[in-house]
Amino acid sequence: MNQDHNQEMIPISPDDQLNFKCSSENSCFNDCCRDLNQFLTPYDILRLKTNLDIKSNIFLKKYTSFHNGPESGLPIITFKPDPASKNACPFVTEKGCSVYADRPASCRIYPLARAISRSRKTGEITEYFALIKEPHCKGFNNKNNLTAGQWIKTQDVDEYNEKNDKLMEIISLKNRIIPGALDKISSDKFYLACYDLDTFRNKILNEGLLDDYSIPDHVLSEIKDNDLALLDLGISWVKNFLFGINMEFV
Ligand code: SF4
Ligand code: SF4
Repeated sequence: MNQDHNQEMIPISPDDQLNFKCSSENSCFNDCCRDLNQFLTPYDILRLKTNLDIKSNIFLKKYTSFHNGPESGLPIITFKPDPASKNACPFVTEKGCSVYADRPASCRIYPLARAISRSRKTGEITEYFALIKEPHCKGFNNKNNLTAGQWIKTQDVDEYNEKNDKLMEIISLKNRIIPGALDKISSDKFYLACYDLDTFRNKILNEGLLDDYSIPDHVLSEIKDNDLALLDLGISWVKNFLFGINMEFV
């Protein structure tokens, strides 16, 4: 969301009261959708391109920018900056978000931010939340009588978290096992498998991209029209070519 330099990050627990309510009647309506510096996860892109009914390569070219993360070395996708619109999100309209049903995870849980840690022993995930307090946001003047945890449940973000946590696992493995920059071939493969799903599908089904892996027929059949299955396969492939982890076929 918006990158307000006066923002404060305050740790918050799901049981804490969250006195926040966003409303189109607030004078700040849509302010949080401008001056963006917003990362898009693979699942965010899957949902947005589905909402717009366009192919992933068209979505990526039209709406996004790409750079390599300074710490992870992995490809990072953000909305394409548009200084003419003061870096407004391409989907913000006078009436609000035009892709609301499929808005990215970070938009859903704003003004909260979520981070996770994963136990190396059990794989168990622990969530942490912070409240992003920004002067421009007037939603804090409202009382909603909900805890942070209850409010998060209203934002329909579980599926996003489940998919995004798989990406976080890759980032954490990358930082641990292959610190620093990623080579160009691996970076291009990561981009293809995680972000450009329609091109990935075409390369698997029509160009034999993963023929060496003996992918079961039921998986090949599933990925023909199931983007979620395709993303799972892509993440499994990334873990294989980056870290040597055997591919899993569900
Ligand atoms: S209340 Fe906050 S989240 Fe809602 S429109 Fe205003 S700035 Fe955005
Ligand atoms: S996707 Fe929607 S909610 Fe998110 S920044 Fe864009 S207009 Fe705002």
